Amino acid sequence: MRMTDQRRVIAQVLSVASDHPSVEDVHQRAHEVDERISLSTVYRTVRLFVEAGIVESHDFGDGKARLETVAEHHHDHLINVKTGEVIEFSNEEIEKLQERVARELGFKLVDHRLELYGIPLDGGNKKETK
Ligand SMILES: [Zn+2]
Repeated sequence: MRMTDQRRVIAQVLSVASDHPSVEDVHQRAHEVDERISLSTVYRTVRLFVEAGIVESHDFGDGKARLETVAEHHHDHLINVKTGEVIEFSNEEIEKLQERVARELGFKLVDHRLELYGIPLDGGNKKETK
């Protein structure tokens, strides 16, 4: 992929983000670095990054694509439906169970996506972070 300056800025914004930003969030941050970067450039660039396998696009149920760079270590997501907060986790038992289910259905598992949706047991008294 040809790396223009604008693409580089967008890639940088995505690589430092830890909050699964939307395309609009990425645009806002990229625009702070280089005000010539338009929303349509961000959309186009993000699509290229997704096609190239550098960036993953998630649907966490809020109607917006939520982005993250493809992680070195696999993880799944728990979404707090009250605040929209996204918590990353990984669980060995779940990983093994999924492989077993696939095997029992006659498949070798090559990928999966898992999103859990929940409300906090403590009533959501923890401070809101996104
Ligand atoms: Zn994540």
